[in-house]
Amino acid sequence: MKNIVIFGAPGSGKGTYSAKLVERYGLGHISTGDVLRGEIKNGTELGKTAKAYIDEGKLIPDSLMIDILASKLDSFAGEKGVIYDGFPRTIAQADAFKEMLAQRGMKIDAMVELVVGEDVLMERLLRRAEIEGRADDNEETIKKRFVEYHAKTQPLSEWFANEGVRQQFTWPGHMDEMLSGIYAAMDKLMA
Ligand code: AMP
Repeated sequence: MKNIVIFGAPGSGKGTYSAKLVERYGLGHISTGDVLRGEIKNGTELGKTAKAYIDEGKLIPDSLMIDILASKLDSFAGEKGVIYDGFPRTIAQADAFKEMLAQRGMKIDAMVELVVGEDVLMERLLRRAEIEGRADDNEETIKKRFVEYHAKTQPLSEWFANEGVRQQFTWPGHMDEMLSGIYAAMDKLMA
């Protein structure tokens, strides 16, 4: 089973490209943001805790996120690959993830980083706010999410580079061009 992390700032397109990859290669998928929004919708204790952080544009504590991931990981057994969308987001999560995979005889096989300028990100997120109505897609919270991203998540890009799995794709201005670069890399990985 190939373990593929999709990485990037809020609004970089992690969800959009994940969906494309899931369809093209027949992969399993976990979006930790979607898991948390599901918990909030169902009014669970975890959802209540998560909401307080999400509404503030903050990351959920590592221990909680690591437990969530661990509880889902075994359900992917038998898939030829899985896309991790929005996880890991801190070095502590990445270290725990690497360990969790190692215990199962696996590793992180690829990290796909979506590199997009902040002006484009803000524009996309504000547009998404109008379409999807996500509570954390307002200008004030978006700015806090960017601060959190730069402080805690961006440094993780180097961590993946050190693991020898980082592949960066810079937004060329067109989705088709972005996709063809990602597909070329993924075709090799999944061959
Ligand atoms: P996303 O849908 O990936 O943009 O995630 C929405 C929000 O969920 C983030 O702003 C965080 O508050 C929270 N979240 C999702 N994944 C994680 C994670 N791996 N670690 C910490 N917080 C997360």
